[in-house]
Amino acid sequence: DEDIDLLDASVEDPDEVRYLPALPVLAIVGRPNVGKSALVNRILGRREAVVEDTPGVTRDRVSYRAEWNGRFFTLVDTGGWEPDARGIDASVAAQAEVAVDLADAVLFVVDAVVGATSSDERVVRMLRQSGKPVLLAANKVDDAVQEPYIAELWSLGLGEPHPVSALHGRGVADLLDAALTVLPEVSAVAKEEVGGPRRVAIIGRPNVGKSSLLNKTAGEERVVVNEVAGTTRDPVDEQIELGGKVWRFVDTAGIRRRVHLQQGADFYASLRTTAALEKAEVAVVLLDVSQPISEQDVRIIDLVLESGRALVLAFNKWDLLDDDRRRYLEREIEQDLAHVAWAPRVNISARTGRHLEKLVPALELALASWDTRIGTGKFNAFLAELVAAHPHPVRGGRQPRILFGTQAATRPPTFVLFTTGFLDPGYRRFISRRLREIYGFEGTPIVLNMRVRE
Ligand code: GDP
Repeated sequence: DEDIDLLDASVEDPDEVRYLPALPVLAIVGRPNVGKSALVNRILGRREAVVEDTPGVTRDRVSYRAEWNGRFFTLVDTGGWEPDARGIDASVAAQAEVAVDLADAVLFVVDAVVGATSSDERVVRMLRQSGKPVLLAANKVDDAVQEPYIAELWSLGLGEPHPVSALHGRGVADLLDAALTVLPEVSAVAKEEVGGPRRVAIIGRPNVGKSSLLNKTAGEERVVVNEVAGTTRDPVDEQIELGGKVWRFVDTAGIRRRVHLQQGADFYASLRTTAALEKAEVAVVLLDVSQPISEQDVRIIDLVLESGRALVLAFNKWDLLDDDRRRYLEREIEQDLAHVAWAPRVNISARTGRHLEKLVPALELALASWDTRIGTGKFNAFLAELVAAHPHPVRGGRQPRILFGTQAATRPPTFVLFTTGFLDPGYRRFISRRLREIYGFEGTPIVLNMRVRE
């Protein structure tokens, strides 16, 4: 089985597999005490004592790698859905909603003995809106005596209820068989898991010094790693050792092979940049300090922001900088690059080799920020403090409240805020600024999404 081979290879030698297909994601959702944890333990084949759901306690989504019949998938366990989705209860509901967004399919668990409650019905509405395939598991059907209970669950409109007993294992095999039929081979929502060297795109307008930088970094004093036959998926990339670590510079062939296009050069340059960004995790945008910062430079930076990649700004040709030009440069940076003031900056010369070693800590910082995850508890404490000190301005007699927030994803850090109304763009920028003040996030864009409640 190909999936298994890939996984084994990734364990033995992370450099061997760089593009691992993301496993499909199954989110398990349901009210507290319907037996989600027991079912998770059963699916994972764990023997540990069943952890009881504690109503009202917010916990982060927990992901497990699960396997059934030789197929692997990611099982995401969420907090329970509270009867009344308000306040702290809204938070668990929101957790589940985010988990559903990030899943390929949903396993919705109800208590067959209790039957479908009104809060179950609310969840069902949300699940329907999500458009995701949903499997309905009716838990606590420990033996045939409880079977008749499940008939009424058809009314939820989620199709056939699957009777299971998480405790005894009854029906779980059939349920998992059904789950595998709705899960795709490769996740449509989870990001590709990638092992191996981190991927860097060197971008910038023509003549800023991209190929000079590449030549210098790959030059005599640094080792060009020989590519082992068969391991390189893309021959246009190059692996270069910098600061004791191997990095993958993507699409270097495009930089080295300088194609001089007359017409539409800009268009092709931007296509090339977009393609390189697509493959990269972090971008080094090169700027030529001997020239004024141009619209094209800013456009390239904006492409990085749109791509959601980490960003390092490298000011090249520093050897050409005189005091006069330096003053202008500082003003230009303030004016044109204020929106990326969070990006690490290195002042280099690809010609002389000046400060090239500073690229590595800048790349590492940007990537660490890009990977950062803030726990839900911490993030909500942050929000509570922010709102207490700076409440949202009242607009037309109304003041939108933030009910709850969670970080839905990393790479780049992506936050979801559940609110009672639209937040002013200014207030959202304020939240982003505070996030940067408290947590750093140097070198990464931050995405802040809103979900407005009725
Ligand atoms: P690319 O189009 O971005 O790949 O730019 P190149 O690497 O071809 O560089 C364009 C021109 O700038 C060449 O003439 C380089 O020699 C020169 N150049 C590149 N880096 C530096 C630098 O740090 N200092 C100086 N003085 N010139 C540089």
